[in-house]
Parts: sequence; structure tokens; C-alpha cells
Amino acid sequence: MSKKRVGVLVFTKKIKERSTRKLTFFDSFVYCGLNSLLLELKDEYEIGYCDAAGIDNWDFVLVPIHSHHDVVNLMANLRGKEKHKSKVVVGGAGLINIRPFKHLIDVAVFGRAEGRIKSILNYEPLPNVWYKEDDPDLKKRYEWGKVWFLLNNEFVQEESVGCRKKCAFCFYSWSHEFVSKGNSLRYTSSVRDIKHGKSGMKGYEDFFANLDWGKAYKVATITSLDGVTEQTRRMVFKPLSRERLRNKILEAYQYKQEGRMWVKIFLILGYPWETEEDAQLSELREDLKAIDKPNKEIRLILTFLVSHFVPMPHTPLQWEGVNLLDFRKILTEKVGRTVYMGKNIEAWVYPYITTPVSAIEELFLNRAFENDADLVYKILMNPKYKTLKAWQKKDVLLKYLPSFAYSKLDIGTPLPTDYIETIYNIEKPARKIRMQYENIIEKNEKKGGKYGAR
Ligand code: SF4
Repeated sequence: MSKKRVGVLVFTKKIKERSTRKLTFFDSFVYCGLNSLLLELKDEYEIGYCDAAGIDNWDFVLVPIHSHHDVVNLMANLRGKEKHKSKVVVGGAGLINIRPFKHLIDVAVFGRAEGRIKSILNYEPLPNVWYKEDDPDLKKRYEWGKVWFLLNNEFVQEESVGCRKKCAFCFYSWSHEFVSKGNSLRYTSSVRDIKHGKSGMKGYEDFFANLDWGKAYKVATITSLDGVTEQTRRMVFKPLSRERLRNKILEAYQYKQEGRMWVKIFLILGYPWETEEDAQLSELREDLKAIDKPNKEIRLILTFLVSHFVPMPHTPLQWEGVNLLDFRKILTEKVGRTVYMGKNIEAWVYPYITTPVSAIEELFLNRAFENDADLVYKILMNPKYKTLKAWQKKDVLLKYLPSFAYSKLDIGTPLPTDYIETIYNIEKPARKIRMQYENIIEKNEKKGGKYGAR
């Protein structure tokens, strides 16, 4: 009997691409999760790459979804292929809302699939798997797929999955329970890159408060603050006071003469309560200035990777709207790329910063219903739309999308992604944050402050 064939879909039409991510094939580190599934299948199935034109040459077509960009690409590539003989199976870390494209697919896997991919291809019932044949209108409730074991393949050894900290914006931590090697409670980094002998996806990765400067001067280091002010960090449950931030950086001076330390720091701007003033990073600049020393002792280069806040489903911020202020524009015009240039410390902003437009697009895809597929085709895939400037795109989106797609909603409003049960209580923390920021806004508005949140 000939083996059944599993094709991994390659997007030949790329509507959306992350400029920060190079094109890679699926048998690479970036797709280490999919790689594990293919290893489980390789003895019983014939595996290869396929494109949309050839999907019917395969019994199953796997489509990995990393982010909302892949959702648009999937829709662009499979449009017109609603009737196909193969079974199209989607899954991956970025798969949340299948409603706008479920007419194009047959199976959706939410969360983890390791250890059960053969059962999925055999159409066995599983709590985290949607089969169109069984539930065409998505009436049932599903779960986030639990971790059955930590991945270990030629690319990675997972050290842990999920995170106990539960920052309010972090979809990853609210959709994964924390599991670690040997049940250790200590989180260092989620994966180990076996090929390059590194902890983390691309170097040394750790929480800011735990940074080990001894490692940071040896390899590129990645961490995050995720809030540009102490107030914001506290509100999103990522508390790091200004004093702790300064003290942590001061520890780097122990490594004088050791060489350059290069640290990438993720930052989020555009939370609903943030203003133009926040975009100028004044508080961070002040803190760096306060701990720089008059004589050169170390060389610490901080690069901030800034993205515009997106209220992600299944997090306590899922009912928030997009802050329409263009933080990228304000930052670029009022600060430029250099945040601080001192004797020992340099801080830069990485030039790729997301805008409210990309935040609206992402939120729209996460809040879209079945009948919104047409808007995806007509707007996001429109070649003219792609050529517009950010402010023109924003006007188009605000004019044509339903306001539900990007506005602040009452806490508890039903959402299209409710077909997956939340693992944790998100309403309670959601109310706490909403109450706090509405108070702040009210006080600031009395003083004449302006907000861009919807
Ligand atoms: S942002 Fe980082 S620290 Fe916060 S919950 Fe997510 S993984 Fe944990």
C-alpha cells in the first residue's frame, strides 16, 4: 500500500511579510515545532513541500500559522480553492481565530499538537482540534492543546513552556500552562538552540530583572521591559520600578574592561492610557542618564525594539481597543533613533516600529467573523491598499471596518474567539486595569491631556 502524502504549504503569494524575519523553510529552527510533528510522521507518510496550485496532489496539507501575517497569506494563497480533495490542516503558535478563513480549511489545531499529530490526521476527536465535518458552524467549545512533552529535535530542546508571570498583554502566557523540565519552577528561557549551543531563540534571553551581565558581554542578549514608564509596567503586571531598573544596569559596571555588551530590549507603546508624552521615552532617558558615569568604564549598547500595543484574545486586555495615536511617528519625529548617547551607555531605537495600522489589521483578524472574509479580500489584499501611506491606510480601515473590530468593548463582551475556553480568569484582572486607567485618563483630561484610544 502506498504511503499517504503530507505536504507543507509554502506561500508563493506573500501579501504580508515581517521585515524582521528572513525567508526560511519549514525544516529550520524557526519552525522547530512543525519539525517535531514531521518527525513523528516521517515513517508512515511521504512528506514534501507543496504550493496552493498543487494541494490536491496531497492527502493532507499542513499550514503553519506564526502570526496574523500568515492568516492573510493563507487566505491569499487558498482563495478560490474552497473545493479541494486534500485535507487542509492549520495550526501553530499564531492560530487563534479561524472564523474568517474556515471556508478554506478542514482541520484546525489550537495550541500544542506534539504526540497527537497522527491521531489528528486520523480524524480522532481531541479537545483542541476542530474538524469541519464534525462542527461546520463552530458551535462547540475547544481547549488550548496542553503540553504532552517538551520538544527535543535536531533544532531545540525546550526547557519550559508558558510563563508563570502572566503579564497582561502576553497571549503566550495566558494560552499555555507553565511546564518545565524536571518540574523546575525556575524559568530562564523557553528553548535551547541545540545547533548553536545557545539559550533562547537567538542568543541569551532572560527577564530584565534577572539579567546576568556576565553572559551579556559574551553574546547578544534579549530581554524586555514592555512598558516605557514605571506606571505602565505596574499596570500590565510587569512591575519594575525605576530604581530597580537603574540598579540592574549599574550591576553591568562590574564587567568593566570586559568588552561590549549589546542588549536588545522589547518595548510596547500605545497602551490605551498612553499619550504623546510616553512616546518620547523621557523617563527611560532620565534613568539612563542618572546611572551613566563621567568616565568610560563599560560599553553598554541598548537597542529598543518597539511595537504598537495590540489587545490579544484570551488576555485580560482582550476587550481593549487600538490606541490610534501614531507612536512611531511621534517617536521618530521627536526623539529620532538615538534615545541616549552617554559615556558608558548608548540607547537606540530599532527602525522597524509597528503602527496603529498594523495593530488595527491584527485586531480585526482576531475579532473577525465569517462574513468579514470579504473585507479581508477587499481591503487587506487590495494591491492599491498596500501602496498607501500609514495615515491613508488608517483612514480606509476606520471607514470600512466595523468599529467592533478595533474599539474598546465592555469587559465580558462575547468575542469570536470564545470557542476556545480561557485557561485562566481574565475578567477580574481586565476590570482592575480598566478601572485604573480610566481614573488616570479622567485626571489627565481634566489637566488638558489628549488620548488616542478608541
Ligand atoms: S511577557 Fe515575558 S515575562 Fe511576561 S508573561 Fe509573557 S513570557 Fe512571561
